[in-house]
Amino acid sequence: MKDKNNNKDKIYYTIFSIIIIVIAVIIGFSLINRNNNKENSKEISYTELITKINENAVEKIEMTVGSTAIKVKLKNEEEEKNAIVPSTQAFIELVQEKVQEGNLIDLKQKKTSIILRISDTLLSLLPTIMIVALFVVLFKMQGLGDKGKLYDAESEKTNITFKDVAGLDEEKNELLEIVNFLKEPKKFQEMGAKIPRGILLYGKPGTGKTLIAKAIAGEAKVPFISMSGSEFIEMFAGLGASRVRKLFEKAKKVSPCIVFIDEIDAIGARRTGGSGAESENNQTLNQLLVEMDGFDSDQTVIVLAATNRPEMLDKALLRPGRFDRQITIAVPDAKGREEILKIHSANKPLGEDIDLKDIATDTAGFTGAELANVLNEAAIIATTRQHEKIVMDDLEEAVKKVTVGLQKNSRVISEKDKKLTAYHEAGHAIVSKYLETQQDVKEVSIIPRGLAGGYTMYKTNEDKYYISKTEMEEKLVALLGGRAAEQIALNDISTGASNDIEVATELAKDMVRKYGMSDRVGPINLESKEQYELQAFGNNIEDIIGVEVKELIDTAYKKAQELILEHMDKLHAVAQKLLEKETITAEEFQKIFNR
Ligand code: ADP
Ligand code: ZN
Repeated sequence: MKDKNNNKDKIYYTIFSIIIIVIAVIIGFSLINRNNNKENSKEISYTELITKINENAVEKIEMTVGSTAIKVKLKNEEEEKNAIVPSTQAFIELVQEKVQEGNLIDLKQKKTSIILRISDTLLSLLPTIMIVALFVVLFKMQGLGDKGKLYDAESEKTNITFKDVAGLDEEKNELLEIVNFLKEPKKFQEMGAKIPRGILLYGKPGTGKTLIAKAIAGEAKVPFISMSGSEFIEMFAGLGASRVRKLFEKAKKVSPCIVFIDEIDAIGARRTGGSGAESENNQTLNQLLVEMDGFDSDQTVIVLAATNRPEMLDKALLRPGRFDRQITIAVPDAKGREEILKIHSANKPLGEDIDLKDIATDTAGFTGAELANVLNEAAIIATTRQHEKIVMDDLEEAVKKVTVGLQKNSRVISEKDKKLTAYHEAGHAIVSKYLETQQDVKEVSIIPRGLAGGYTMYKTNEDKYYISKTEMEEKLVALLGGRAAEQIALNDISTGASNDIEVATELAKDMVRKYGMSDRVGPINLESKEQYELQAFGNNIEDIIGVEVKELIDTAYKKAQELILEHMDKLHAVAQKLLEKETITAEEFQKIFNR
């Protein structure tokens, strides 16, 4: 979009650049000047200088007003020397004292050259200039510097189409309707069809919400205007609302188009009627509602918004005529993951041994963004290893890097820590081995990765949509297996289990409050409820939750201890093997049990 504000901007920036260049030239000039002085003659230290003065070996001293750098000519030397004095005043007094004592020193004081003086002034003013410049830029960004300025929402033509979006077939199908509408709005209007004004995309970060919104614009060949909800939250009151207004002004101008608001929960959070930042928030939300309601029927602007926290949204946003269509963008299943891997490996040289299906199987729970990241990491690893193509081993290492962090070869680990980690990881592996619902061990290692001192990786065989209570209980046991092994085998416990404990606690809390899996609480959702809401379920409901969570954890820990005690020989064998080899594979692990 071109408007006259852009021209004004150009003038501002030109003036700004000229000022910067002039300052830079002057400073540069003076620096060269100073350096020249230094190079042309030798230095003399202050103590040496004092000694020379006391010895009456100094012939001439030249000082510059306002500078601690001085020039010294010694009696027996041709060349002048440079020196720095700590305090000019004290130095002058010292020299004058010597002169009065009868030493012949020619003390000259001269004024600085114009250029040096200007540059010194500029240097001292530099912080002020920068601060003023910063304010100007900030003001302009806030749209305050120039009243009529249109806040520049990002508007682009995108080349992304549905072809670039892997998986999500049903979602794409549903959105095809929108594409068709954007292409031929008249046809729909003549038929009296009402097309949704706003569509909410629910889903975890990185699942491709932005991508699919762009693809709609790309398919329909209309502009894509985007903004993030967090950008609307401003430090100056009222700006959020005015930005929303301008965003939609712009959209109407370029319609038909797609408006995409990422992180809409940042503006669309439930209104609470508070003050300060909160009421600012409300103004922004109110403006958004006004804009959504205010479209004429012939304006073909479709608003897509994305959030990961639908429960946070103000109900008013979901009313008819606003975001009345909701589409969940789920984490991809095995087939979807394979397709995403395919798309993102299309531009990379792959070795013959690459099996993307295998990688897809190993990456249950990964989002599209994480899978894209895996391939990028694999390319980096392959380059570092000087492979001609990306081979399976690079790809597997990349998966590990993305899941558990980078292998830390350089960290020096004490024998004591190694032993602790070995027993801890062996504990996880042994315990899961004897739990019906837990996945088989894929790899156990005591090589640190990311924040973890070691890791136990499990095979993922299938994508699960439901997890049973038994499975969750056994998951708790597996998580606490590390701690249990430390306690039993080494008779001490460590901080190494902190992450396991965190995950286990969250899981147990979810079981009680979210999945209704405890008898005493029952199938009631008590997740993220306020105090007063909880009270509706009895005064001591929180105590009951606490007791139930603790009981789940205690039972799981006991079970883990039992399993460890029962299979102590195996625990020692696995830990020993780990200390010896550092990483053991599924086969090596299995061998220990075959013996
Ligand atoms: P979100 O908006 O949901 O946080 P993005 O759309 O920004 O996620 O996705 C980030 C990146 O992940 C995309 O640019 C793309 O490279 C990759 N990605 C995510 N989902 C998919 C998918 N279904 N197909 C292909 N690439 C995907
Ligand atoms: Zn652990």
